[in-house]
Amino acid sequence: MLNQCFGSSLFNLRPETGEQLYQPGFQPTGGGSVALPFPGSGAASDAASRWGAALARIGAGARAAAVAERRRLADDWQRLRRAAAQGDIDLDLGNAVFSRRWWMKAGACTALVGGALWAGLQVMPIHEGVPRALTPAEREGALPHMVAPLAMGAITGAPPRVDARQLRPLAEAPERPRVERSLSVGRRGLAAALRSAGVGADDLAAVNRLMAGLNPGGGSRANLVLGRRETKTVPRPLESLALRAAFDLKVEISRVDGALVMKRIPIRVDSTPLRVSGSTGSSLSRALRSAGIPGAQAAEFVKQMRHVVDFQRGLGKSDRFDIIIEQDRAETGEVRHGRLLFGALMRKGKDPVEIGWHDGDYYLASGEGVKKGLMRTPVDGARMSSGFGMRRHPVLGFSRMHKGVDFSAGTGTPILAAGGGTVSFAGWHGGHGQYVMIRHNKDLATAYAHMSRINVRPGQKVRQGQSIGAVGSTGLSTGPHLHYEVYLRGRAVNPVNLKFIGGAELAGRSLDAFQRQMNRWRALPMADAAPKSVQAAD
Ligand SMILES: [Zn+2]
Repeated sequence: MLNQCFGSSLFNLRPETGEQLYQPGFQPTGGGSVALPFPGSGAASDAASRWGAALARIGAGARAAAVAERRRLADDWQRLRRAAAQGDIDLDLGNAVFSRRWWMKAGACTALVGGALWAGLQVMPIHEGVPRALTPAEREGALPHMVAPLAMGAITGAPPRVDARQLRPLAEAPERPRVERSLSVGRRGLAAALRSAGVGADDLAAVNRLMAGLNPGGGSRANLVLGRRETKTVPRPLESLALRAAFDLKVEISRVDGALVMKRIPIRVDSTPLRVSGSTGSSLSRALRSAGIPGAQAAEFVKQMRHVVDFQRGLGKSDRFDIIIEQDRAETGEVRHGRLLFGALMRKGKDPVEIGWHDGDYYLASGEGVKKGLMRTPVDGARMSSGFGMRRHPVLGFSRMHKGVDFSAGTGTPILAAGGGTVSFAGWHGGHGQYVMIRHNKDLATAYAHMSRINVRPGQKVRQGQSIGAVGSTGLSTGPHLHYEVYLRGRAVNPVNLKFIGGAELAGRSLDAFQRQMNRWRALPMADAAPKSVQAAD
């Protein structure tokens, strides 16, 4: 009813049919007869019928009254049905506003709302046993016992509040029978770590004796147990100590019959090297790092490859790297990486470049040293005409230091950079005439004098063997030749005497051994651990 009242006034809907309006409680039964609007009207009408039968047995008068009553109710119901069907019981407040009919409908609606409110107020509240709120002190005392996540602010674990009157002070704090400690060995070493953990001098000396020759790393952890002591003035005795003494060794020190004894527990280590391959992408260093190669080994790979591969033009997207580094995997899960053993670059349209570690240095697959020394002769097919040292100058006519070596060659013969580096000087340089100096690293530089032509500019990078100009006779010179100087840490040195000047090269038995090793590395399976992103880039 209420819903109908507001619904139609708000939305100006047509009233629904009488059946629906009077649905609750009023359920017309079959054969035109009606049931009374009581809860469970079907049962009620049955009961009425039974009562009617009972009354009939008592007297015909009462029976006639009951029949008349039923007929009157049926008539009322039919009147209501007719009125509903004609729309007489419509409470639509949207039509004919303020008319007499409207006021009647408004009155009926108000009466219905009022009745509902009045009925609502008659409902008595149900009283339940609600616990009273905790006082702040009670609440504080209860907090440590709460079962609530710490994230929600629980302080579970705090000592509960105890009534001070129940406390009885102890004469002295009782000693714990044993103390367990876990400590990091740290940079100061094991002895210092044990001393700060409370191990006494005698035990410390015993541990040092047992651990002689073992040097646990700074990152390793030690677990120790200190036992009960007789008095508080002496340190607790060391009961047991367990630590990782080396990558492949665990030691356990324990007290047996009063003396400390050590047990060595070897840790199995798999030393299969790690092999990773992948696309060089836009940055070789980044590709190596994302393939799981540690920084130091990735840098070593790039540094060694730089000696034999010209990175200046960059690597192509389809170029690939192949790298093997030493790897130790302990059965306890730790992984340790070592030296770069093998590296290869596969560049599109070029032969693959492979380097391998052998006896302290890196070599190309051919056995040629990766670190090429300076070329002994920076002009093709020339012979040395004058050595290094004091000599009588051919032009000046007096003795002076000859700070280089001379190679006689015809004018226009190309002069080659003795090593890769950066041109630090190119131009006229007094008696040197047309002169070029190349800086190879922070210690080493070479210079070329009396040139007829210069092909390079200062600041330009040059490769070993690149033509930097041509032989001539400019400056203080008696004829076409190359005056060649080598500077080590700023001092002119005799190139002939320099050991490093020639690149190392493997030969004979060591070359055989190296090439066998290279074959073993080439056959090493790839690691599964290489990230997919690198493998999938090609
Ligand atoms: Zn000279």
